[in-house]
Amino acid sequence: MLILEKFSFGVGDRFAHQAKSQLAAFQKLAANGVQVAPVWNKSNREHTFVGSEPQSVLDAAESAVAALGWKGGWHVDADHIRLDTVDRFLPCSDFFTLDVADSIGQPASRGDVEEFVRRHPELIGTVTIPNIAEPFATAPIDIEWIAEKFLLAVQHAGKIFRHIAKNKSDGNFIVEVSMDETDSPQTPLELLVILAALADEKIPAQTIAPKFTGRFNKGVDYVGDLAQFEKEFHDDLAVIAFAIARYGLPANLKLSVHSGSDKFSLYPIIRRTLPKFGAGLHIKTAGTTWLEELIGLAEAGGDGLALGKEIYAYALAHVDELCAPYASVIDIDRSKLPSAETVNAWSGVQLADALRHIPGHPGFNANIRQLMHVSFKLAAKAGARYTDLLKANEAIVAKNVTENIYERHMRPLFVG
Ligand SMILES: [Zn+2]
Repeated sequence: MLILEKFSFGVGDRFAHQAKSQLAAFQKLAANGVQVAPVWNKSNREHTFVGSEPQSVLDAAESAVAALGWKGGWHVDADHIRLDTVDRFLPCSDFFTLDVADSIGQPASRGDVEEFVRRHPELIGTVTIPNIAEPFATAPIDIEWIAEKFLLAVQHAGKIFRHIAKNKSDGNFIVEVSMDETDSPQTPLELLVILAALADEKIPAQTIAPKFTGRFNKGVDYVGDLAQFEKEFHDDLAVIAFAIARYGLPANLKLSVHSGSDKFSLYPIIRRTLPKFGAGLHIKTAGTTWLEELIGLAEAGGDGLALGKEIYAYALAHVDELCAPYASVIDIDRSKLPSAETVNAWSGVQLADALRHIPGHPGFNANIRQLMHVSFKLAAKAGARYTDLLKANEAIVAKNVTENIYERHMRPLFVG
């Protein structure tokens, strides 16, 4: 089994032009004494929207690693894959995020559920987990209900894992199990049951991405009860530490925070909670980098700014269609979206300020930012016109990409 580093950070590079500027942030962090492994992630959905192939992610990562002389670990994540989408990722990924959220809530067979409950008497009664204030008090029916909700999803994860293992016989890959793209958050008790089931299924998961309480909207800060998140995050870490010892899961199993970019109010909580358990972290970001491309192009002015304005005008006219696939992960107040005429009259600095995620900045507009976040398809449609602009304005785009990842994400998470 390939071992995932204790701290890892997922970055997304939709148009395969920013691997170097992303890696520069990891180098800066390493120079500050914190070693974090970059993981370039791209989901099947993103590849489909952009029209790219998984191999392009590996190629971009390899050339960035060579160009900057990166000596640390790094990985390529086949993000949110399922049994029907994993195959084209097999030759060019060493990290697989098994997405089984669709099976949550679909009942496993009666016999499997009963067998699970029989096999796990330790989950019933007073279940004391070190570092969790109140022990769980459970009746057999509670565990049965939780198993009914999650067992089929875990069985599906097992099928995907075995399919990958059969095709990557050297075993050199990392497994993440993701359950975040579902309606309701998982409680720490549910996480415990899920981990017991993953161990039964012999899935050597090194990271698990639960759905946390609160809203993880794309490209903007967390919306929810911070105290409740802190308790849940803490208790999840306690459950993981317990499950590693109790069920023999990989010793480096850690939480993965999906939609992790721009959650500025959570970073101090995560930073102070991890050391209580000596725990590692995987955090997944993606679209935040595409927004930095737009910001850099806006600052560059000229054709870059013009394309940014064009994309905004088109997005505004097609807001329903663009937002529909992301309904549960964006909250746009349409009354706060300025007209295309207004934005067309803006300077590059004004557009950059509206997009750049500095919450207190008078020019910042979280509604424009979210709309542009989901509009990357429009840049894909512009094709070479867009990527040629990225090349022509490489330095100013790179500066924004590196600064965003390092200053706004890594520093509060890993340096403080
Ligand atoms: Zn996810």
